[in-house]
Amino acid sequence: MASETKKNSNATRKKVRIKKIIERLKKAHPDAKLDLDFTNPLELLIALILAAQARDDLVNRVTADLFKKYRTAEHYASAPLPELEEQVRKINFYRNKTRSIHNCCSEIVKRFKGKVPDKLDDLLTLPGVGRKTANIVLGNAFGQQTIGVDTHVMRLSQRLGLTNNTNPDKIEFDLMPLVPEKQRVRFCHLLQYHGRRVCVAKSPRCPACTIKSLCPYPNKTES
Ligand code: SF4
Repeated sequence: MASETKKNSNATRKKVRIKKIIERLKKAHPDAKLDLDFTNPLELLIALILAAQARDDLVNRVTADLFKKYRTAEHYASAPLPELEEQVRKINFYRNKTRSIHNCCSEIVKRFKGKVPDKLDDLLTLPGVGRKTANIVLGNAFGQQTIGVDTHVMRLSQRLGLTNNTNPDKIEFDLMPLVPEKQRVRFCHLLQYHGRRVCVAKSPRCPACTIKSLCPYPNKTES
């Protein structure tokens, strides 16, 4: 009973801290958004497959032409693999990624009438789609309030003491009840921008950090 009470008050304290973190980061990074270009759920799904361990700006350059040529899941599913590979060859692991796109789109055509499903359980049945990708698609293309745990969300949640877990799925489950429901997608964008601009992995810029007073490690850097 006593440990349950302690757990609840810890969660309440974290919720209050997260609200303050969000407010400050909104002011620091008003431009925070998903950096991948897309106009519909299929384009976002394809961009996310291509973006694994690749720079968003490179992916955007490649998808600018790709999305003009292939507009539906049927187009990707029926395209010859060498032709598709040629379109994305500037991106690392392009052969594996081409195969993932092809397999994923084939399933979308076969089982979902060519439309990217808007339910987590359905998305997770697609080849190559894990929780991170599924949640980012649901959050950014379908307007659902999800938390997609990418490298920045993972690192900053740990650094800010919001989770003790290292497994992205467990981090998502830790964050979901703590982050205000309407702000979950925004929260992820804010952590991504803060992680790139200020709380960078190797030498975070603590003295310039707007959430320094809300961070358990405010002195990670001296200058
Ligand atoms: S105070 Fe330092 S460690 Fe904490 S969030 Fe800011 S930059 Fe990161």
